[in-house]
Amino acid sequence: MSIATTNPATGQVLKTFDPMTSEQVDAAIGRAAAAFDTLRRTSFGQRARWLTAAADLLDAERDQVARLMTTEMGKTLAAAKAEVTKCADAARFYAAHAEAYLADEPADAAQVGAVKAYARYRPIGPVLAVMPWNFPLWQVMRFAAPALMAGNVGLLKHASNVPQTALFLDELFRRAGFPAGAFQALLVGSDAVEPILDDPRVRAATLTGSEPAGRAIAAAAGRQIKKTVLELGGSDPFVVMPSADIALAAQVATTARCQNNGQSCIAAKRFIVHADVYDAFCDEFVARMSALKVGDPMAADTDVGPLATDRGRDSVEEQVADAVAKGARVLCGGQRGEGGGWWYPPTVVADLRPPMRMWAEEVFGPVAGLFRVTSYDEAVELANGTSYGLGANAWTTDAGEQERFAEDLDAGSVFVNGMTTSYPQLPFGGVKNSGYGRELSAHGIREFCNVKTVWVGEGKSAGAGAGAHSE
Ligand code: NAP
Repeated sequence: MSIATTNPATGQVLKTFDPMTSEQVDAAIGRAAAAFDTLRRTSFGQRARWLTAAADLLDAERDQVARLMTTEMGKTLAAAKAEVTKCADAARFYAAHAEAYLADEPADAAQVGAVKAYARYRPIGPVLAVMPWNFPLWQVMRFAAPALMAGNVGLLKHASNVPQTALFLDELFRRAGFPAGAFQALLVGSDAVEPILDDPRVRAATLTGSEPAGRAIAAAAGRQIKKTVLELGGSDPFVVMPSADIALAAQVATTARCQNNGQSCIAAKRFIVHADVYDAFCDEFVARMSALKVGDPMAADTDVGPLATDRGRDSVEEQVADAVAKGARVLCGGQRGEGGGWWYPPTVVADLRPPMRMWAEEVFGPVAGLFRVTSYDEAVELANGTSYGLGANAWTTDAGEQERFAEDLDAGSVFVNGMTTSYPQLPFGGVKNSGYGRELSAHGIREFCNVKTVWVGEGKSAGAGAGAHSE
């Protein structure tokens, strides 16, 4: 894939970039290693001041950055502005909480024969972050803010279609005051990832992206015994039970499926509706999906912009065509839009069944699959019946059912009477083929730390403990 900014609303290539040479990558890794030596010795207070300065820059430059993201990947300008604000908020959140999250954890010293024993969190070094284009600022910030606060340094390999957003981020942290090399963007293709992971100066990797990329990166990191965090795809269920507020469920379902032009890992993708309320939900949902305005993502009244790449649009189109050829019904949308950009309208498809691709695969565009079930057990079985396990939504006002869904849905998160989203305060991640590890909250900042055990004995001959038992 070439490294270029191509406007998805027009298909026009606006700027191309030569990939960095292996010598340039080597020099960047050298700068990262040197920066780590400096950053690991700085205080939480110092790092918090730099990260807060980055948040202030994001607030001050919100509109320009938002326009850049919309130009590179087609999300609506309103969504892009909200993303910038979310990044600034997350940066401030980690600036405020990192020190407490990484405070020493004392153990009962007497029980381990010590005068003092505790776990200490220490940074591990340069971490490679391989990131996608769909939330080009947020995906990076949710890695970078905790990583930098922990004292790690970041090497960003961003998606090849958002190079200017990558360069903005490269400059952002330096302008905020972090030492040169603490956060760098590497303009390289995916073929450069494995050699970077092989470099002993790079200590770990995080990927947000597709399942094939996850397999490739985990395998390459595994060969070098390096830790990975993988945030991969999802085909999140959105279950609607008879006690739900159907109008509200249909309204939120529309947003949950079509936000970010339908290109979100945690978008609700499979709508599993109890037969008692199926017709009412279906009518309301299809009406709302049909009413969304598709168009210029820069325009204030646009709900859904173009898909980010022509390849992405082709793949959504092929999945819908496959379902239709095997007997599914399209209730709205289903035809690519006219014009030079990569348009695909909000679409609802019913009567899905195996072996239709949409039954099992993630659909990365504004296309909803609609399913009818007749019981709680059938709903849960269907909800859990894919290889993914990222988020899950359940709509019910029955308190007992709410508890059961929280327990039974096999996913990294369960949102009841709401749509899946991310907050710096809550852990984020998946199970099964949606990946492993967690981002955000205290869990996220600890992923790339050495949890170091410190045991201090009395150091006098009467002291017991040292060597009492060894493994
Ligand atoms: P993708 O093809 O996997 O790309 C993501 C990143 O991985 C890009 O930087 C890409 O580089 C790189 N990459 C791709 N193949 C690679 C390989 N074999 N080795 C090393 N690096 C590789 O994903 P996408 O199609 O652009 O993004 C959509 C996917 O990401 C969906 O499945 C979505 O669900 C998932 N996603 C997950 C989350 C989450 O938090 N769980 C969030 C957002 C998106 P190039 O651009 O140079 O190819």
